[in-house]
Amino acid sequence: MEQAITKSLTMANGVKIPQLGLGVFLVKEEEELKTAVKTAIYDGYRHLDTAMIYNNEEFVGTAIKETEIPREELFITSKVWNYDHGYEEAKAAFAASLERLGTDYLDLYLIHWPSPNYIETWHALEDLYEAGKIKAIGVSNFQIHHLEDLLAHAKIKPMINQIETHPEFPQNELHEFMKKEGILHEAWGPLGQGKHDLLSNPILVELAEKYNKTPAQIVLRWHVEREIIVIPKSVTPHRIKENSLIFDFSLTEEDMGKIATLNTGTRYATSPDNEEFLTKTSIRPE
Ligand code: NDP
Repeated sequence: MEQAITKSLTMANGVKIPQLGLGVFLVKEEEELKTAVKTAIYDGYRHLDTAMIYNNEEFVGTAIKETEIPREELFITSKVWNYDHGYEEAKAAFAASLERLGTDYLDLYLIHWPSPNYIETWHALEDLYEAGKIKAIGVSNFQIHHLEDLLAHAKIKPMINQIETHPEFPQNELHEFMKKEGILHEAWGPLGQGKHDLLSNPILVELAEKYNKTPAQIVLRWHVEREIIVIPKSVTPHRIKENSLIFDFSLTEEDMGKIATLNTGTRYATSPDNEEFLTKTSIRPE
């Protein structure tokens, strides 16, 4: 099983990213976070997704050290927050993330949201990438118009766009655009963030019974079939394990079609076009 968990996709620059990772959004309590990270690593996960704004990079770093897994076997992502945009600011934010994580490079560093000044921030990421400090660079929450703008100014194309994606919000149009541009699709909130009773949807429950899996595993497999990277968050050991057991079966085209009918175009979280959110979160707190 361990081999399967480490199934990878290849980014435009040839660097591989494990298709399954552990998300740690909203996990702020040190012991809970360390237990989740260690459980995941012992279950075979090799990919961890954090961000400066999650306020837990330091705990992620400590948990990793305690597992004694060599750094090069892990794939670590962090993100530059909205009030750290700008060339020098982003470089400083990157250095601070490295320090908190206790590492001297990142596998993936993302612009967390397309808030003002993301072009300058991108130039900082490009330079850090060229200096060998980051194995791959990308963005998060970028819509097609943000990507078009970025591509018009970028020397290096983003390798990943991490976006809200789940059966109610499959991001079909953006997915196709990214595919055409060679940008990998990474899903945040892949299980719908535990919201809107997604996992008790009768279609998912029926498919779970058919495949002898859980609704969460059906949803994660649906992402995997779409060549999407998933980073489900859980602090519950049996769910961390459950979420990893998604590489030993596949969904038929007909069943993929059934899940496609769940598309209601409903975002569960903030829109990347919410200017008020972007502006407000770009102001550094005193
Ligand atoms: P998820 O879709 O991963 O859902 C997490 C919720 O689902 C938690 O309440 C968790 O509960 C529950 N859950 C996990 N596994 C199962 C299961 N097998 N069965 C039933 N319930 C389950 O939402 P997230 O928002 O956490 O997204 C995942 C990751 O994406 C984040 O942790 C973060 O790393 C990243 N992210 C990025 C964003 C961005 O802007 N770039 C925004 C939001 C998230 P429990 O923990 O109690 O087990």
